[in-house]
Amino acid sequence: MKKLRLLLGDQLNHRHPWFDTVDDQVVYVLMEIRQETDYVRHHIQKVLAFFLAMRSFAAQLKEAGHHVHYLTLDDPTNEQDLGRNLQKLINELAISEWAYQEPDEYRLDQQLLDIGHALDIPFSMVSTDHFFTQRGELASLFKGKKTYLMETFYRYMRKKWGILMEGTEPVGGQWNYDAENRHKLPATHRPLSPKLFSKPVDDLLQLLEDQGVKTMGHLPKEGFIWPTTRAESLELLQYFVENALIHFGLYEDAMSKKDWSVYHSRLSFALNCKLLSPKEVIDTAVQYWEKNQNLITLPQIEGFVRQILGWREFMRGIYWAHMPSYATLNALDHHTPLPDWFWTGETKMNCLRYSIGQSLEYAYAHHIQRLMVIGNFALLAGISPDELDAWYLGVYIDAIEWVEITNTRGMSQFADGGIVGSKPYVASSNYIQKMGDYCQGCHYDMKQRTGEKACPFNALYWDFYARHEDRFRKNPRIGMMYQTWGKMSPETQASIRKQAADWIARLNEL
Ligand code: FAD
Ligand code: SF4
Repeated sequence: MKKLRLLLGDQLNHRHPWFDTVDDQVVYVLMEIRQETDYVRHHIQKVLAFFLAMRSFAAQLKEAGHHVHYLTLDDPTNEQDLGRNLQKLINELAISEWAYQEPDEYRLDQQLLDIGHALDIPFSMVSTDHFFTQRGELASLFKGKKTYLMETFYRYMRKKWGILMEGTEPVGGQWNYDAENRHKLPATHRPLSPKLFSKPVDDLLQLLEDQGVKTMGHLPKEGFIWPTTRAESLELLQYFVENALIHFGLYEDAMSKKDWSVYHSRLSFALNCKLLSPKEVIDTAVQYWEKNQNLITLPQIEGFVRQILGWREFMRGIYWAHMPSYATLNALDHHTPLPDWFWTGETKMNCLRYSIGQSLEYAYAHHIQRLMVIGNFALLAGISPDELDAWYLGVYIDAIEWVEITNTRGMSQFADGGIVGSKPYVASSNYIQKMGDYCQGCHYDMKQRTGEKACPFNALYWDFYARHEDRFRKNPRIGMMYQTWGKMSPETQASIRKQAADWIARLNEL
């Protein structure tokens, strides 16, 4: 009875029970395929990261004595499609049954089910043993409720897993220290240097070029810098807890021209391809905090735990509760095409030039850059969520649909009409000025609302509220904005709206 076990590129969990014993009758299959390099235009570093991680994972399995069949992109027998490759391997290797791990993406979930039913041998699906929650757990928790509240979910998770808890109460008596996560970096502050890895990628670059894989972005001057093995991922985790956790919560929302990752962990790729488990990341951070409470305050560790135990699992739950319809939602009816400078970073708006520029250079932007600079601008300008989703899904090293689309279409664009968040994340230049140093030296003046030199965020901000008044006026979290808008004279309102229409008509020139 020869068995095939399929491993997708984001299923590199070294500690999965599949690998507990070596079985001569089992062959593990990993494949580099055009189906995956081409479903969206990915950042070059993202493709390299996945291939490097898959190759080293396969090598480690072999070293441990497992049988592995690895199809490289240029293997002449590679059909470049999951189903056709599986069919071929099942015939060639005389496989009598096969299995796969629960995919995180809807499209692969459907495809594998279809393949399973089409092939004439038995198949089964097992858990990836990665997440804290089951796919449908969030949906059952909120069954019968109209909205999902992340705070309710987060408290449920803290209690269920006993993380930062004293009995049934949160450590320190408070569940959430979000209000303490909103500090700007002091002008004299010297940011932490990000820990970078270094590895040769010339052969892989050549392979991608020879095969004509179309990508976006480039490699930075430092070369390829991401962790792609379990050892490197553990090293990055250790670096984070020892050096960055101390300021994580405090400067979580801060932005700086001097620093592209501030005190963020940059663990998202290692987590999303499962080189690290969310539980071991949280345990490592909590244990480090417990031993160093004289240095690291509770809001730092709580802020970090909330991102992984709260937001990450919450987004996964929303994804499985609402796919496939979620991918088509456009509640605000936004259709403006994405400006060209999303692909080059060449805009006169400093905040966007830095945030998009570093996304293209490092395949990374931290949360506030993604949400309050890039996403905020796109929402204010009424960019099509389809076009924006494709960009976010391609550009970031950690972008996999389940966590990308819920953040982009949901949290950032309100295209889901309020499933993820109860109000849209929009802000004028005041917020960007408050949280960073981008406005200093910008071509535009953050204080002005109209005129050629006025910061485009300002007129677009008020225009957004005016455009969507029917939907948002009654929202208790927003009502106040309409009072301020209502106090402006009709002439002021008209000139702001005219300015916004002008910016939207010539987005490519901004
Ligand atoms: P840290 O700030 O160090 O946070 C630690 C970990 O918490 C992250 O590694 C991540 O696993 C988790 N986390 C934090 N915030 C979120 C969140 N909102 N949703 C889910 N997990 C979270 N994250 C992705 O992993 N893939 C994406 O494609 C992605 N797209 C995004 C698009 C938009 C518009 C926005 C606003 C956010 C997106 N995020 C995405 C969430 C978040 O921005 C990234 O997880 C984070 O920036 C990754 O960097 P980090 O590892 O340094 O995170
Ligand atoms: Fe961005 Fe406006 Fe500030 Fe310039 S002035 S950096 S465009 S917010």
